[in-house]
Amino acid sequence: MKYYLYLGLPFLVIFGALAGENQGPSGSVNSVRRQSNIWRSEHRLIDLHQHIDYTEDHLARAVRVMDAVGLGVAVNLSGGTVTRKDGAPSEFERHKQLADRLFPGRFVHYMNLDYSSWDEPDFPERAAKQIEEGYRLGAAGFKEYKRLGLNLRDQAGKLIRIDDAKLDPVWKKCGELRMPVSIHVADPRAFWLPYNEKNERWTELKDHRSWWFGDPAVHPPREELLAALNRVIERHPRTTFVCVHFANNAEDIAWVDRMLDRYPNMNADLAARIPEIGRHDPRTVRRLFIKHQNRIFFGTDFQVYDRLTLGSGGSGPPPTDDDAKEFYAKHWRWLETSDRAFPHMTPIQGDWTIDAIGLPASVLRKIYFDNARKLLVRSLPPSATRARHINLEISPGNRRGSSLANDAGGAPGVFIQ
Ligand SMILES: [Zn+2]
Repeated sequence: MKYYLYLGLPFLVIFGALAGENQGPSGSVNSVRRQSNIWRSEHRLIDLHQHIDYTEDHLARAVRVMDAVGLGVAVNLSGGTVTRKDGAPSEFERHKQLADRLFPGRFVHYMNLDYSSWDEPDFPERAAKQIEEGYRLGAAGFKEYKRLGLNLRDQAGKLIRIDDAKLDPVWKKCGELRMPVSIHVADPRAFWLPYNEKNERWTELKDHRSWWFGDPAVHPPREELLAALNRVIERHPRTTFVCVHFANNAEDIAWVDRMLDRYPNMNADLAARIPEIGRHDPRTVRRLFIKHQNRIFFGTDFQVYDRLTLGSGGSGPPPTDDDAKEFYAKHWRWLETSDRAFPHMTPIQGDWTIDAIGLPASVLRKIYFDNARKLLVRSLPPSATRARHINLEISPGNRRGSSLANDAGGAPGVFIQ
């Protein structure tokens, strides 16, 4: 509360009046930038999609970048599994304990599933138990990688399908516990096109041969993977799905629009896909963002391992911390200005430019942090949920539920059911 009074209120009074928190499309870029800079100076932004290696050095490096760019909290999607071996703490427990001790309040952690008993008859029950255990240990959500449908195989060598009924207890349990699911399926469309220098993602693909899925004898078509995920989302209407990489289909924003309309429990993050979304007509993209403003989350795919990854990476020189700051700055530029034809933030993804969409501050704040606060309200540190605006919007009495007004005209996300 003190934070609110000392830091928040003066800014609210000064800039709330000038820039207007509810300013519409006519608001000037300058006032939007000013407002967003204040949010950054207060470290209010939440990155819903990071992968940080759980070592002291790597976590510290991530926090240095987060501090420099104005992020308060990051979601580490690579929390690990909850499987214990020989009574030792699980990967997830060790990871969470380390990060929470070193940098309390800066990260929340998603758990991952251990598939090693997939072929056992009781896998479905054991998998649901993993989710329960993750919840008990403080997992903020559940992340599934693109391995489903593409890489993970059963003992007979058959690919494990995204919509395999054996996974239904997992999705169901996440819904019961209100644990959001971040799920990656498929990949850019170009990864299914011929593997040669004419492929527009050639720079990226030639460094990552395993990302090419264009042999129909080995991998299913991309559309089939997207359809399989849709079947899962449809079967589990009380589970909140954040479909990463702009609903896994940044190439087809009309499809993303239709699917968000069709499935109220589907949401999208922006991770590593502004280079793709930014190629579309910016007025169309802007309309889509405003329409679905309650269902879009800021996320980047910023990764810290022995080298940084800024959305995607290859064999080039390792990015520096300054590159990471520039990477984030380009996100701000795309979301906040109306600049045209500027280089995007992940050059390895392709040699083209993007057009910014200049969102109003009232929409930006949802994408930058309000939507994530609602999604993660159970897990966020008190400092994040007590920051000034959240006091007005989420009272302690409804932290775990109740519906919130939807002012975008779209369906409400299920995480606020
Ligand atoms: Zn990722």
